[in-house]
Amino acid sequence: MESDLFFRITFTLLWIIFVAARLVPVRNVPSVKRSRKERIKAMIEEGIYAFVLIFVATYGNFIVAALYLYNPPWFQWSYLHLPLEPRAIGLILAIISIPYVYWIGRTLANYYSFTVEIQKDHKLITTGPYHRIRHPMYAAFILFLAAQVLVSDNWLFLAILLTLIPGLYTRINKEEQTLIEEFGQEYRAYMKQTGRLFPRLRSHEAD
Ligand code: SAH
Repeated sequence: MESDLFFRITFTLLWIIFVAARLVPVRNVPSVKRSRKERIKAMIEEGIYAFVLIFVATYGNFIVAALYLYNPPWFQWSYLHLPLEPRAIGLILAIISIPYVYWIGRTLANYYSFTVEIQKDHKLITTGPYHRIRHPMYAAFILFLAAQVLVSDNWLFLAILLTLIPGLYTRINKEEQTLIEEFGQEYRAYMKQTGRLFPRLRSHEAD
C-alpha cells in the first residue's frame, strides 16, 4: 500500500515533467503558436484518426492519470497486480524518456507540428535523435506510455496505448508520404539508413 502511494506520486511528477519536456522546446514554433481553433481544424482536415489520436493521447491520458493519483475505490478493478520489479523498470524507462523527448523537440524545433505539415523553408533533419530513427518522438510517446502501464500497474493505461497504436501507424504512413513528396530522393535515401521507431539492426552496413 505504501509503495503504491510512492509510485502514484512519483509517477504523477514524472508525467508532468514529461509533458513539459515535450512542449517547452516547441512552445514558440510557428505551428504551435496558432490559435486552438486553427489547430483543431488542421487535425480534422488530416483525418478523424488524427483527431482521436491527439485527443485520446492528451485528454484520455490526463483523465486516467488524475484517477490514478486520486485512486478512488472503484478504480481498484483496473489494477494488474504486477510485482515490484516491473514497476521499478517502468520508472527507469519513464525517467529515460524525459531527456530523450526534450532532445527531440530541440532538434526538430521549427519543423515540429501536431498535424502533418511542411513549414516554410522546411529542411530534412537527419541528425541527433533522427540519425537512426525516423520517428523518435512517436517512439518516445510509446516508451513513456509503456512505462506508464508498468509504473501504474493499471490496464487503463494499456488500453490508451493500444488505442493509439493504429492511429500512430496511420500517421506515420501519411507523414512519410508527405515527406517523400517534399524531399523525394533525399527522404528515400534517409529511409534506407533508418528504422521507423527502432534503429535498423543492420544499419552499420550502410555506414
Ligand atoms: N514523426 C517525427 C516528427 C513528429 S512532429 C517524430 O516522431 O519525431 C510532425 C512533423 O514533423 C511533420 O509535420 C513533419 O513534416 C515533420 N518531420 C518529420 N520528420 C522530419 C524530419 N526528419 N525532418 C524534418 N521534419 C520532419
